[in-house]
Amino acid sequence: MTYRMEDLPPEQRERLEELFEKYRAIAAMYYWSKRLGLEEGVKRALERAREELPSYWRRTFNESSPLYAFNVEKMKRPRKQVLKLPLTDALGEHDGAYIYKDNESKESKLVVRLGNRERLELPIPERALRWLKEKEDEVAPLKVHKTVRIQWRPERAQALKVQIVFRVQRPRPPQPDPKNALLVYIDVNSSYGIAAIFASFDGQRVKVHETLKLRPPNRGRRLKEAAKQQRAAAYGSKPNINWAIARLTEKFDAEGWKKKAIAEIFKKALVYAKGKSIWMNFDIPDIEKLRNSYLQKTLSVKKIAENLANWYGIYVEFRCYSSRRCPLCGGELKEFKTTRTRVEQCKCGFYEDRDYVPFHNWLRTLNLPLPKWPLRTLPKPNDPEA
Ligand SMILES: [Zn+2]
Repeated sequence: MTYRMEDLPPEQRERLEELFEKYRAIAAMYYWSKRLGLEEGVKRALERAREELPSYWRRTFNESSPLYAFNVEKMKRPRKQVLKLPLTDALGEHDGAYIYKDNESKESKLVVRLGNRERLELPIPERALRWLKEKEDEVAPLKVHKTVRIQWRPERAQALKVQIVFRVQRPRPPQPDPKNALLVYIDVNSSYGIAAIFASFDGQRVKVHETLKLRPPNRGRRLKEAAKQQRAAAYGSKPNINWAIARLTEKFDAEGWKKKAIAEIFKKALVYAKGKSIWMNFDIPDIEKLRNSYLQKTLSVKKIAENLANWYGIYVEFRCYSSRRCPLCGGELKEFKTTRTRVEQCKCGFYEDRDYVPFHNWLRTLNLPLPKWPLRTLPKPNDPEA
């Protein structure tokens, strides 16, 4: 959810700005001291946090809290523009943020405690509330831990980004029996996007339920979409929200696209599994190959997949299988290009869309027979010059 700072009442805005300023200074001091091994600096930072920040804003400095935000081994820079605090269910808890429905106006609000008795009240659209409820129902009866993440950059002072992050704790599921599981192979490819194959063994052979290729929207379509939203904003009832969306669409948020694409794959897997266990393998290429591609920061694909796998209790692995080795005879495959697809072929007669070859090799290591190939109709590679 994105809000405009100028829409906030001045005293809330001032308090938020003050809080961010203090937090940023303390966060930077804490992070760099920690990174440089300066115990004294860490101690100072914590002291200042105790003096200047409300208690529920301090959990980001507590290493044993799930809100801890300074994993110096993994982070190159401190996240000083982000404030995190727990979202609680009960109004009475004097902690963090809560959602409140005004009985008169029927409007729901996210109330964020800012300390010094100041609160930030942000309207939440009905649609977002429904989504929150659906998410919780998905994993019921497991308890969901909710966190509010507030992001604000002074250099982009007009926009305040607020996210509600869900987390559920459960043990990693055991490795399923490949003969009885839904098998999902996901190929993350820098040249076009993400390909997924959904398959299962029916006792005789491996049946492929679906092959799916997801591509990020191209620029032309994105701009058209943005223009549509800008028109909606000009006439609509919720101009702020629509303007914000329009701006986002214009920029194209690669991170958002990846999240949506991967979530779609998980949703499909749950449908095809019909209650069976699921084994997913994400084939994520070497980061070096991805320079200058939209998937450049693709390690986050792993993060997104891990989060969703934990959310749904799905067994997931991240292994790469060859797209150059023949899954039938082990020979080296030769590639030829058609206008739309890159096809790999072997002297033994095997040929397949390059993006699906690793899937066959995966099945081999699982000791499963190969499905009928090619998975989708391809031009016959009779002529190597084709
Ligand atoms: Zn072969």
